Amino acid sequence: MPSETLNQFLNDNLQELKDQGLYNEINVVEGPNGPRITIDGKELINLSSNNYLGLATDDRLKEVAKDAVDSHGVGAGAVRTINGTLDLHVKLEEKIAEFKGTESAIAYQSGFNCNMAAISAVMDKNDAILSDELNHASIIDGCRLSKAKILRFNHSDMDDLRQKAKEAKESGQYNKIMIITDGVFSMDGDIAKLPEIVEIAKEFDLITYVDDAHGSGVLGKGAGTVKHFGLQNDIDFQMGTLSKAIGVVGGYVAGKQNLIDWLKVRSRPFLFSTSLSPADVTACTKAIDLLMESTELHDRMWENGDYLKKGLKELGFDIGDSETPITPCVIGEEKATQEFSKRLFDEGVYAKSIVFPTVPKGSGRVRNMPTAAHTKEMLDEALAIYEKVGKDMGLI
Ligand SMILES: *Cc1c(COP(=O)(O)O)cnc(C)c1O
Repeated sequence: MPSETLNQFLNDNLQELKDQGLYNEINVVEGPNGPRITIDGKELINLSSNNYLGLATDDRLKEVAKDAVDSHGVGAGAVRTINGTLDLHVKLEEKIAEFKGTESAIAYQSGFNCNMAAISAVMDKNDAILSDELNHASIIDGCRLSKAKILRFNHSDMDDLRQKAKEAKESGQYNKIMIITDGVFSMDGDIAKLPEIVEIAKEFDLITYVDDAHGSGVLGKGAGTVKHFGLQNDIDFQMGTLSKAIGVVGGYVAGKQNLIDWLKVRSRPFLFSTSLSPADVTACTKAIDLLMESTELHDRMWENGDYLKKGLKELGFDIGDSETPITPCVIGEEKATQEFSKRLFDEGVYAKSIVFPTVPKGSGRVRNMPTAAHTKEMLDEALAIYEKVGKDMGLI
């Protein structure tokens, strides 16, 4: 007998979301997630992926992934600590450490999983974590899982951080205190103030943790936000994902040897969840190789980002203060934002609307992620559609 209590809970809550217009209908992409995608048989210019460098569909990665299936099979067969550590995993981790300029690195099955794993392996109920209020959901969940006291500070507000770090330190209540932040914030494209954060960390003896999901491949000539500021020796945890600029799937922490040794014996998803597949790790290793060999993709992505930003600005849109290719187009009111995104879709641009509660009320936006795989023609086409819809709706 299915539970009637569950049934009622699900139906009531689903209905409530639908009534509020908050129920997300999932779009199915028919084919690869490239610069153009097909949804419901309709071809669209794709401005919503995190595939920054276009590597998700790169032929060189596809090639090595196929070879890895032939040589190692489709699955790793076990968790890392039993016998799911293949030579391919070791190669990837060595490559990540080289890329990040650290002694060592550890790979996980995803970035989300990595934050759940790494934070709670080091922090516990006798500790405190200073967390930027705009940090990603996986950081928030990772912090919660650790049972440490979470001290939120105002977004990139260094006075607030210093004050809260001082209070935490002087309270004498905590064994360890960590500061954790996104390297690049995904909604606005702004960069964390890492030099100041490192200074405050030194002053109050804080552990530093940077989640560089949106900075890796993008800043520091590709090596990330920490490299961008030349702080490789000052950040304890350089965390990142293999699913955005790297184009595949997985997550990692790069850092000192003893940190990685500890994570390998204490982080639960490493111990209790099967490791990344041979094709995935091999494609990731190849992607990092490509990034280290040449900045061509990185440079093209930045060019495209600058081009799209300039175009939208000239049309009269509010594109916020992004410091990276992430290009928000702020519409404001929630309903208008959703309508704008829908109209773009009808005209041939896929750019998802992001509204409260993901961003503050009244700051609804359509977020654009230009990639290295877009051509100028595609961006011009997208800009023409933006102009048409913006004028039709009286926004510009
Ligand atoms: C996307 C993202 C993650 C999760 O990475 P996945 O590899 O997709 O699980 C973690 N942190 C931040 C800041 C992200 O943007």
